[in-house]
Amino acid sequence: MKYAHQAVRHVRAGGHAVVWETDARAWMVVPQPDPANVSDLGYWSILDLGRQRYRIAKVGPFRGLAVARIPRGNEWIGRRRAERDSIWPGPMRSVRFDCLTCGACCRSNEVILEREDVNRFKKSGRDDLLKRPLVRKGANGKITLALLRNKDCRHMGSDNRCGIYEIRPNACRHFPVGSECCLFAREEELGVHDGVVGGEHPLKRE
Ligand code: SF4
Ligand code: SF4
Repeated sequence: MKYAHQAVRHVRAGGHAVVWETDARAWMVVPQPDPANVSDLGYWSILDLGRQRYRIAKVGPFRGLAVARIPRGNEWIGRRRAERDSIWPGPMRSVRFDCLTCGACCRSNEVILEREDVNRFKKSGRDDLLKRPLVRKGANGKITLALLRNKDCRHMGSDNRCGIYEIRPNACRHFPVGSECCLFAREEELGVHDGVVGGEHPLKRE
């Protein structure tokens, strides 16, 4: 890997790197995740690739860093992230988010209810939240929050506030602000390319 050492410098300084082994084989390299930190953005950048697992490299230039193969067919995700961030010098940057002016992650999403969510709704006397039209039940027993026709979550108000905030599902509680999934939702739903002057990413692709 020709640029492995540049990638390592970038990651050791706090960034995330996409490293191409061949045109069709790429790796996500991030600092060693902290399992106790549910907002660990490196870990989320792996999860958001559809990967649950990573390995800590024991030898070679990536020693001590977390490495995950980008799933075949999802290489475009790594390319898109790299293009988005390539206009920024350095491995990190600061972006201020205001969820109340955003709400992107409450649109076109799939919130799967966990047993804990079901219990929380019941304990709060909100059994109605487990019935149609507020949920969809799959044949496999999976319960998901139903969306409106325009794909907004049915619990999101016109002010972007969550109508069930105190008892919202775990998936919403743990959604990591500033993560790849957050940035992606903002791009897809709002056309916001964070921090880019003029709001339009110069490398945006249709
Ligand atoms: S997409 Fe990100 S910034 Fe927007 S509401 Fe969700 S967590 Fe907040
Ligand atoms: S339940 Fe609340 S936080 Fe979760 S997606 Fe709906 S509006 Fe957003």
